Amino acid sequence: MELNKCFRCGSFFATNNVVCPKCMAKDNLELSTLKNYLEQNGSSNSIDSISSATGITPKNLNRFLSYDDVKKSL
Ligand SMILES: [Zn+2]
Repeated sequence: MELNKCFRCGSFFATNNVVCPKCMAKDNLELSTLKNYLEQNGSSNSIDSISSATGITPKNLNRFLSYDDVKKSL
């Protein structure tokens, strides 16, 4: 069985997701926060200013911004 390391908390888990089941809810919440932000503010702001406006870490922002469903809203 292959274990993945959670991108958020670093714990090991056995699904194909980037984050563990525990962090999934937080991930989804931040993802919808980011989508709302992009809808209202566009994508012209820097990672740093998006980060301070949404409370999402730059590390997670870079990951979210590479997602196809986020790219679509850019
Ligand atoms: Zn986790």
